[in-house]
Amino acid sequence: MVTNGRHRVVIVGGGFGGLYAARALANADVAVTLIDRVNHHLFQPLLYQVATGILSEGEIAPALRGVLRGQANAKVLLAEVTGFDLAGRNVTAVEPDGSDLVVAYDSLIVAAGMTPTYFGHDEWRAAAPGLKTLEDARWLRSHILGAFEMAEMARTPEERAAWLTFVIVGAGPTGVELTGEIATLARGILPRDFQDVATRDTRVVLIDAGPSVLPSFPEKLRRRAAADLRGWGVEIRTGTAAEDIRTAGIDLRNPDGSIEHVAARTVCWAAGMRAAPLADALAAASGTSTDRAGRLLVRPDLTLPGHAEAFAIGDMMGLDDLPGVAQVAMQQGRYAAGAIASRLAGEDPPPPFRYKDKGTMATVGPRHAVVDAYGLRIGGFIGSMMWAFIHVMYLVGWGNRVITVMRWLFQLTTRNRSQRLVDVRHAASWRELGDRPGPTGGGDA
Ligand SMILES: Cc1cc2nc3c(=O)[nH]c(=O)nc-3n(C[C@H](O)[C@H](O)[C@H](O)COP(=O)(O)OP(=O)(O)OC[C@H]3O[C@@H](n4cnc5c(N)ncnc54)[C@H](O)[C@@H]3O)c2cc1C
Repeated sequence: MVTNGRHRVVIVGGGFGGLYAARALANADVAVTLIDRVNHHLFQPLLYQVATGILSEGEIAPALRGVLRGQANAKVLLAEVTGFDLAGRNVTAVEPDGSDLVVAYDSLIVAAGMTPTYFGHDEWRAAAPGLKTLEDARWLRSHILGAFEMAEMARTPEERAAWLTFVIVGAGPTGVELTGEIATLARGILPRDFQDVATRDTRVVLIDAGPSVLPSFPEKLRRRAAADLRGWGVEIRTGTAAEDIRTAGIDLRNPDGSIEHVAARTVCWAAGMRAAPLADALAAASGTSTDRAGRLLVRPDLTLPGHAEAFAIGDMMGLDDLPGVAQVAMQQGRYAAGAIASRLAGEDPPPPFRYKDKGTMATVGPRHAVVDAYGLRIGGFIGSMMWAFIHVMYLVGWGNRVITVMRWLFQLTTRNRSQRLVDVRHAASWRELGDRPGPTGGGDA
């Protein structure tokens, strides 16, 4: 991009943090270059709906180039960032054809997010995929739908039961939302479509090492969510940890210390996240410390120690134990953009970043949600309406908002799902580690 001597802002990552930073610089006299290894902005809060056949990929992942179309000072590059030369003020990256790319900057904003972690058991990754990228969601969808197809053809009751057993590890919002939708699929959507298998007999097990589901929610809403899940026939096993995970099932460590094997052909991992590898690269380049989750311990103004021109924001930074949620990343994106603009205008630096907590919410099946936001604590159908409104408003693009609402109405009124695609190659396969496409695979974020 011709910068005409303008201040060059390079943004790494087009997720919530990076995209909101880029947009907040729309009227600044700067040249913005946004680099991402995928060409889309992913609305991760609705990934579980792609994984369970409610929404299609494009509805939650508009092209970054299209999103920033009207912003004359912004350019988008599709490349995988590999490192930083903070002294020389360069970002190094690899283009899709393997060529090296070096992009110079005056200010840098890095928002590379997080990646699932298996707490030292990387061998579980192939048998228990996480849910972080579109590739993860597509794979999970094939596997969930394929399990019912395999159950229809099972030769023994044991084989059928294993295909009809789904274990979700981790009872935070992602685990609860995924669990609710798998149970709904099995008991509310699929029973009419299968002849030989009673999908209502599906066993859906939600496990968590902690004492309750949705630990970050108030007690009343936790109990409400657990009751709603049980209403869908979900088996909730708190105080229970994964001991071993293989393609044939999972070994659970029960609260009394006993080990129990659950034969399950589908195990989903929603238990832990760690800062993206670029956090390590930035830490090494700047000498910044990281916390236990690998997050960069940035200064109160979100810059790296000794580098006032370099910001790390969103999920990959650790400041005041802020949660890894979209609101933090969005507010930090705007904050970093504002700090750069005021510096260029010769104004005083802004006060330290302060997070405005707007609350949290999670769905529990299609008609229920728990909401702890805007001073309200509600559950049930009203909660799900509020959840739907907020999520639609934050989706990027009017077209996607309209189509998403239509798909939700379609599901509610017809008790069907429109995105139930699976083929014979993927229905019963486990993802090989070596099979994972580098730039979009969740395992190497
Ligand atoms: C399944 C799921 C459900 C969620 N639900 C909610 C919810 O309901 N509410 C909520 O508030 N939050 C939710 N979150 C969390 C929320 O999505 C994150 O907090 C938010 O996305 C963080 O924004 P970010 O910009 O820091 O990172 P991200 O949005 O993850 O963006 C990181 C970007 O960096 C890019 N990138 C990474 N490495 C490189 C590289 N080497 N080179 C180039 N590009 C790179 C990635 O491709 C990605 O586009 C959910 C997360 C998940 C996974």
